[in-house]
Amino acid sequence: MQNRFQPSRREFLAGLGGVSLAALLPRVSFAQSLPLNPDVAIIGAGGAGLSAARTLMQAGKNVVILEAMSRIGGRAYTESATFGVPFDWGCQWIQAADRNPLLPLAKEWGFDPYLHDLELDRIYYGATPRRFTQREMDRTKAIEERFPKINRRAARWRDGPVSSVLVPRTPEEEAAMTYMFPMDMAVDPGELSIRDWARQTDLAPNYLVQKGLGTVVAKFGEGLPVSLSTPVKRIRYGGKGVAIETEKGDVQAKACIITASTGALQSGFIRFDPKLPDWKEDAIGELPMGLLAKIPLLLDGERFGLSPFDDILYERSGLQDIYFLCFPFGMNMMIGFVGGSFAWHLTAEGTEAATDFALDALRRLFGEKAPSHVKKAEFSRWANIPWVRGSYAAALPGKAGARTALARPIADRLYFAGEALAGPLAQTIGGAILSGEAVARDVLKQIA
Ligand SMILES: Cc1cc2nc3c(=O)[nH]c(=O)nc-3n(C[C@H](O)[C@H](O)[C@H](O)COP(=O)(O)OP(=O)(O)OC[C@H]3O[C@@H](n4cnc5c(N)ncnc54)[C@H](O)[C@@H]3O)c2cc1C
Repeated sequence: MQNRFQPSRREFLAGLGGVSLAALLPRVSFAQSLPLNPDVAIIGAGGAGLSAARTLMQAGKNVVILEAMSRIGGRAYTESATFGVPFDWGCQWIQAADRNPLLPLAKEWGFDPYLHDLELDRIYYGATPRRFTQREMDRTKAIEERFPKINRRAARWRDGPVSSVLVPRTPEEEAAMTYMFPMDMAVDPGELSIRDWARQTDLAPNYLVQKGLGTVVAKFGEGLPVSLSTPVKRIRYGGKGVAIETEKGDVQAKACIITASTGALQSGFIRFDPKLPDWKEDAIGELPMGLLAKIPLLLDGERFGLSPFDDILYERSGLQDIYFLCFPFGMNMMIGFVGGSFAWHLTAEGTEAATDFALDALRRLFGEKAPSHVKKAEFSRWANIPWVRGSYAAALPGKAGARTALARPIADRLYFAGEALAGPLAQTIGGAILSGEAVARDVLKQIA
């Protein structure tokens, strides 16, 4: 079993090792100087930070983005070295594509987005898996439509854990709940607020891009003034404007937009002076990161009777479930996903435990020889990246108000943006981009 603090070389190169090293080692020399007095300093070069910078620069403002990692994109990251084909370690689908600014941009830039329905094509159930019949598939689909309505009705009266409203009693209900919670919201229903889930929108339509969504986001950030490998350590906002201390020197700005994930904020790496008010600290704590983790498998050409873009759910007892996106764009890859508490458990166990789990699922589904067709298996480790610490945030039961509190600026100069503040598009890259834009417009009103 692999020690979580000693990543494989491949993980290290991918910047996804269990350690901070890949993200900590600066690629940009310390000699690189920071602009000392931008109008706005933006913390984080993920989707939210990049779109905030674009909006402010279009209005003629001087900005700098301070990014801890040695690349831009944050949780949007495509990398080709590991599998020889572009692979998205983070976000992959352009979701809610009819409202997502990335779809028109991806089309304009020639990425040729592919509409993918994300509806389950096969569900297997049980330790010795049995494939659902068409009737069972239809019933599962109907439950995926019915359960959100039941939850929304409950949300009118109270908040609490979603698990107190939705209790699965049949295999179809179990499968629908796995797909809706660990695989989508990245948390188990017992850890999710009824009201928070009721606010989330249906994320269809969904598109995939063969060159990777991280590549689209990297293009979105091209040419922006980013200082890479520049972790922000302290933000002082007691005097005039905001003074930001980084490992490469200090920046003084009129305002600051913080886009670090709630996981990164909870870690306390960024210290605030004066200390953040209690209501803000509470909001950060009430929006913990969930975890969706990928177990990508590179195969030798075997297809197990599946077609490109098939979506498979293997539902077992005890939340040990796995979803596979199969052979997207005809690539020899099956991308396994685990979510919620089971994803945290596998992260703690390490890459070998995670890949063994996926190979065991293949063996159960497609026979003893199935794992022998796998040439390479990996595991995403977002939980261990200190600048992220999970996949995306969800409100704890009873704490649906946390998103509003997290969004509230402090002293007209500390602003917060990112996926956690994206309203009904929370948790998505499109939502993060829209949040960055909206907050930048608020800042413009303040510093105009
Ligand atoms: C496995 C996985 C699958 C996903 N799938 C999808 C999907 O299919 N579709 C979808 O829409 N979304 C998906 N998401 C979610 C999506 O990736 C995120 O919602 C989005 O990328 C978040 O953008 P952001 O700008 O809010 O945050 P981030 O991308 O996290 O950007 C914040 C930046 O702040 C930096 N930072 C943190 N601390 C500091 C510091 N102290 N100093 C300087 N910089 C700092 C970080 O390094 C990071 O680059 C997925 C996420 C994961 C992890």
